[in-house]
Amino acid sequence: MTGWKNWFGRKDFGRLSPEERLARVDAGALSVLRVLADAGHEAYLVGGCVRDLAMGLVPHDWDITTSARPEETAQALTAAGVRAVDGGGRRYGTVIAVRDGVNYEVTTFRREVYGADAHRPALVIFADTLREDLARRDFTVNAMALGADGVLHDEFGGMKDLAAKRLRTVGDAAERFQEDALRLFRACRFVGQLDFLADRSLVEGMEAAFPRVSGLSLERVKSEVERLLVTPHAARGLDLLVRSGLCGCSCRVRENGQDTAVAVLPELSHLVDLPQMKEFHRYDAWYHTLAVVEAAPAERIARWSALLHDVGKGMPGVRRVEGAKITDYNHDRVGAEMARTLLRRWRFPEKEVHLITWLVENHMKFHYFANVEEADVVKWVRHLAMHREFPSQAALIGAIREMTALAKADIIGCGRPLSATEGHETFGRCMVDVAASIPVTTGELHYDGRTIEALGPAAAEGMQNLLRRVQNGELENGPEPLYRAAVRFRKRHSHETA
Ligand code: ATP
Ligand code: MG
Repeated sequence: MTGWKNWFGRKDFGRLSPEERLARVDAGALSVLRVLADAGHEAYLVGGCVRDLAMGLVPHDWDITTSARPEETAQALTAAGVRAVDGGGRRYGTVIAVRDGVNYEVTTFRREVYGADAHRPALVIFADTLREDLARRDFTVNAMALGADGVLHDEFGGMKDLAAKRLRTVGDAAERFQEDALRLFRACRFVGQLDFLADRSLVEGMEAAFPRVSGLSLERVKSEVERLLVTPHAARGLDLLVRSGLCGCSCRVRENGQDTAVAVLPELSHLVDLPQMKEFHRYDAWYHTLAVVEAAPAERIARWSALLHDVGKGMPGVRRVEGAKITDYNHDRVGAEMARTLLRRWRFPEKEVHLITWLVENHMKFHYFANVEEADVVKWVRHLAMHREFPSQAALIGAIREMTALAKADIIGCGRPLSATEGHETFGRCMVDVAASIPVTTGELHYDGRTIEALGPAAAEGMQNLLRRVQNGELENGPEPLYRAAVRFRKRHSHETA
């Protein structure tokens, strides 16, 4: 979802005629609404799809809310020839209508009562009115409904907030966050996803719910934070996450029947207002980090490495201030250790821990190599290949591409123009070319059956020898040179072992 799409001018959605509004609605969703209405029930599109329509965006799914009880929903759908699948009907009131292979979630109007659980309601009660159902929803822009007649139901000022690009809770923010602490993270995510500002009342209501974060599972928190991280305006949401202090809370992970507290992202707080040398940086360390995140491709690894690339800055032992001179030597290495601890705590797969940590640890080296002509790029790549920093040539090339993207984002995040990244782009491509010529495993040697035959019983050792020599640049990686080298190796080898 990038920016506003100008189908009909978003401001005018409220003023469009009902027919014009319905013309934007998915045909399958509309037919489900009509089936329910024809059976005598109230039914509305609700939540994210109405918000997206009002913003001139194309909704990615269509949720429906209805006065029909789940069994009535299923009955009405089936009678009209629409497949109905149970989606947790008895407990949550959801029936899934399947039309032309597309799923539409149809949920009975409901109210929720919250209790001990930090996220799930203790009680779900089916309700009689649309208003009750809208009132349980998190944010005003998510609490609008559109009927099959094209009438917009906006009981909590969603359209006004949408026009002002303002995220506001339905009802008292502190209460709503305390009911379900996941909404704290959803707030950050929507601010980034929608390019909104958090209303002051929302920000002020956050802190009271922080103790409830301890009851949220890491899985849920991670899912929201990662969704936020890849949104177009991630900086806004991350800024809210960090400045509100939410990043300093702990959630929990349940493993082997035991709960462990998992700190969210306390590593980021110290970057806020951390000064940097004006000569190289337009922003403080936190704004720089946010700018790098937004300049990085909207993908998980790229955004995580951007978020963490400078976490080592300002740390004890790293920061030195001499008069007007500020330095953070070694922030890459210290930052890599901090990133490793953080990512393991977040239960990232080891492969990703390694990749992101490597990017953080080597980003300054990449800048250095890209800027200094005498730097020996072949030597660096060879070293990476020979020491198996990555398990395959493809993985190494992938890592170099990530590094190039990070370094470019880093330059843009210093307030410099895209044109200033051209040198890095060229250097990155050159590094990829070098990596493409250096195999990491014997499987990446371009040999044929003759080589294996020639090596005979010394195949394992022989292949390792050939790999080393190709990596060293002594031997070409092709069937013919490898075969000839294998014959020579076998000869030498049989002399030695004779
Ligand atoms: P997206 O575009 O990300 O799918 P969405 O608004 O559809 O946005 P969902 O998480 O799919 O978000 O939820 C659908 C709707 O359900 C929301 O618009 C909101 O009305 C309601 N909702 C979801 N989660 C919560 C929650 N934790 N508390 C209150 N209401 C919620
Ligand atoms: Mg949704």
